[in-house]
Amino acid sequence: MKHYTIPPTYHLGNPGICCAGEPPNHPRYEVRPIYTKCGNGPPWGRPQYYLNGYGFNELEEADKLFKPLPYDHPRVQAWERDQYAYKYDCYSPGGTTGAVDRLTIDSEHKQPPEYHLAYLAVKEHYPEAKPRLDLIEKPPKYGKGAEGHWWERHDKPPKPEECKGETWQAHPVNGTWCQVCGWVAEG
Ligand SMILES: [Zn+2]
Repeated sequence: MKHYTIPPTYHLGNPGICCAGEPPNHPRYEVRPIYTKCGNGPPWGRPQYYLNGYGFNELEEADKLFKPLPYDHPRVQAWERDQYAYKYDCYSPGGTTGAVDRLTIDSEHKQPPEYHLAYLAVKEHYPEAKPRLDLIEKPPKYGKGAEGHWWERHDKPPKPEECKGETWQAHPVNGTWCQVCGWVAEG
């Protein structure tokens, strides 16, 4: 890892690359793509990603900077709820972790809770986590009407009138609702 000075003709894209579903405080939320003056990626072998003064050829190099927040941190707890919301009824056959290319949908929850994809994702970063039977039984809402992805970049949910939305889209991000603060238009 080395300090990298962006060439003067280059520019940076918005922060956040392949970050969907990553736990809070993960570097991928803050990594920015490097573009040449033509808007392309730099030539092969040059840093493609930028974070806090460092250049990275591969995203995985930035991943090594991940410092997990404590498991009981409100942002981590919200991320955990979001995992159960997104992966409701989804189980890994045999409880295998890593890239799951097959999954079992079980709306009656007869699979062992230890095989639930949300639990497996949380356990990967927080070995002390237990399967959340309450969230398996009653998964939180996902998308419109959900509590919002505020935990990606904020310490607490912003009030709708103070919400800045996403870096690429102002509040309310989706027009009639906001995926950051959870606001939903009436009617
Ligand atoms: Zn908002």
